[in-house]
Formats: sequence, C-alpha cells, structure tokens
Amino acid sequence: MLFGQNAVGGAGDAPLSWMLGRGISLGSWFGVKVRLDWSLIVIFVLIASSLAAGVFPAWHPDWTPGLAWFTAIIATALFLLSILIHELAHAIVARAYGIPVHSITLFLFGGVANIEQEPTSPTAEALMAVVGPAASIGLGIFFSLLGTALGRAETRADPVLFVRSLSPAATLLVWVGPMNVFIGIFNMIPAFPLDGGRLLRAIFWAASRSLQRATRWASWVGQAIAWAFIIVGIAMAFGAVVPFFGSGFISGLWLAFIGWFLYGAAVASYRQVILQSLLTDVPVAWVMRKRSPPAVPGDEPVSKVVDERVLPSEEDLFLVESGGAIVGVVSTPDILKVPRGEWAGTPVRAIVTPFKELHAVSPSTDAYDALRTLGRIGAAELMVIDQGKVVGIVRREDIMRWLELHPHVQPPRDHRLPAPMTS
Ligand SMILES: [Zn+2]
Repeated sequence: MLFGQNAVGGAGDAPLSWMLGRGISLGSWFGVKVRLDWSLIVIFVLIASSLAAGVFPAWHPDWTPGLAWFTAIIATALFLLSILIHELAHAIVARAYGIPVHSITLFLFGGVANIEQEPTSPTAEALMAVVGPAASIGLGIFFSLLGTALGRAETRADPVLFVRSLSPAATLLVWVGPMNVFIGIFNMIPAFPLDGGRLLRAIFWAASRSLQRATRWASWVGQAIAWAFIIVGIAMAFGAVVPFFGSGFISGLWLAFIGWFLYGAAVASYRQVILQSLLTDVPVAWVMRKRSPPAVPGDEPVSKVVDERVLPSEEDLFLVESGGAIVGVVSTPDILKVPRGEWAGTPVRAIVTPFKELHAVSPSTDAYDALRTLGRIGAAELMVIDQGKVVGIVRREDIMRWLELHPHVQPPRDHRLPAPMTS
C-alpha cells in the first residue's frame, strides 16, 4: 500500500497524521515495529460481516451462521496479514538500500510503512514500490492455487458446485487469493503516493533527474486520479456500474472516501518533498531566534513570573536559574498546567523542565531535521544549544517565516504542514 515519510508536521498535514494517533503494538517483525491502528477495527468488522452475512452463505447455503462467521473472521485476519506482508516487503527493500524504516501501521485504508527519508535513487524507489504489489500478487496466486487444489476435482466443470465442495479452509483461501491479486493491481494504479504512483515518480525522476520536479508531476497525476475516484465513487453511489470497481452505494462511497484520502496524501507528500529540498543544507542557526530566553530565579513564585514577566512582555519561555546555574526552562503551557489558585505558592523551579529532558539541536543541525524532530516529539520549540549554552530557540513558525522571507525559495501554499501539534 503506501509507504512514505510521516514524520514532518503534525495534526492536519495529511489524513495520515490524525488517523494514526493511537493503536496497539504487535512488537517487532524483522526489526520493524508493527502497529494496529484503532481504525482497523472498522475495516475488520466491514469485511468480516460482509463475508459472514453475504459471500459465504451464498457460496455455502448449507453452512451454519456460526461456521460462516468463524471462517469469515479467519479469512479477514489472513487478509490483513497479507497486507502486513505487503508492507514488510516495502520495508525490507528499503532497509536493503540503507533507508531506516520506523514502523508499519495497519489502518482503515490498509497499511503504511513509515520510512525515515526519501529513496536515494530512482532505482531504489522503483524497487521499493514494485515489491509490495509483487508480494500481494504472488501471495494471491499461491492462495488461489492452494484453495483450488483442495477442491473436489470432479466438480470443477461447474463453478457453483465446485465452490460448494470446498472446505472452510479452502473457501477462505479461494476468497483471500483473488483479494490479494486485486490489492496488488489496485496499488499499481499510478496515483502517487500509492505504489504505482511511486513507480511513476521513479520514472519521472530518472527522466528529469530532479526528485522535486518528479514529485510535482507525480503528485499532479495522483491528485487527478484521486478526483476521478471521488467522481466515479459518487456516480457508483447513485447507481452507476463501473468496470473493475462494480456498483453499489457502499462501494461507491468507499471509493470516494479512498479518493479523498489519496488526494490529501498526494498533496502532503509533495509539500514534504518541497520542504525537504528547501530546508536541507539550511542550518538551524539561520532560522532560529538568536537570543536566549530571559532568566528567572528558581524560587520566584509562578504568580510573580506571570504578573511581572509574561503579561508585560509577552515572553512565553524562561530559563530557570538556581544556585547560580541555569537548570532548565519554563514555558507558558507549563504554567497553565498549574491550577491558578496555586500560582502564588508554587516556585517556578517546581515546574521546570530540566535541560537533560529538553530536546535540543545544535546551530549546525539541518532545519529540516529540526522540523522533523518537532513533528515527532510534538513539541512547540527546540532549544538551540552550542557548547553547553542556550544560543536560541527554534519553532515551526520561525522556520516557515524564514522560508517566506527567503527571496528565491517558494514556500508551500499554506502553513498547514507544520501546524502545531495539540497533544
Ligand atoms: Zn504498497
């Protein structure tokens, strides 16, 4: 299914970010963390119930509801495991090219492998993209052949009788096999950032020798196809019959929903590449606020800090001094966590964030890495520390402002990508 970076930005940059909040961990598979997102429950219930109440009773009128449900649940689990194998295929090839894979998440729209950086060459991108659908189609053919081999040979002339002769295990293989082939083919649709779109970008990349230009073109194609999905999906919901995708209200809405998701992902992926290309080789020293926050004594009560420092100056970040040394920082969000009635009796050192717990960067860190760190940890700012001293702070807004003021770079159309995380 999808693979790509999901580290930059926060809430609202792509449908991915807000969808992939919580979930349950399945531990490490081949050294890659695997997570199930809660939204997976929706797709599990949809698939299992349509199999148990629709497909299997039609194939096997003699099955009891209990047997149909049992087989449906195993079939759905095997289907999701197949998607996990698809994602692992992406991850294993990525790692073979030295690209770290952060995690794999299974969610509402399938799977996503979070890789830490863009592929290093068009060949790497093409191979990483193709191996997922190849795994799906390979698995699909294997499951189909296995399921068919388990059927009674003498009934093969009549498909209805043949399917009826299948055991529960063979039945679910005969369903999961073609589903995997469908997933493999679907993912080869050149709608960036689907696998087919990744392959298209690799071709554009090889032709133009510019990842940025290739991403722009691939993103345009992806957005156009996403719109086509939305329009075709709505037409299906109103009764149109579409080859390959079928018909029906639910299928139509689902296709439109996938189109909407792909549109967001195509736009966000492009923004990310633009940001990366603009900010790589830009040191944090250029974009940071070059002044250290004011220092306050550690035993000063919070109420005094608010009245005498926060309110008059609009400062919202302070270094905290204790015993002649700077021990950490306090920000207005820290202050607001203390109930208002306790401000007078609480010294700021009681709510300080110690230096060793702060996420710090050095002035020579790439601004893009700083942005990724901000997105990953969900912090509002990073301290810039040089030789043990705070020399500045850097926030998303600082980086975006720098991009806007910088004459020969074009900032992304809006600021949604690095939107502050509310966590
Ligand atoms: Zn894939």
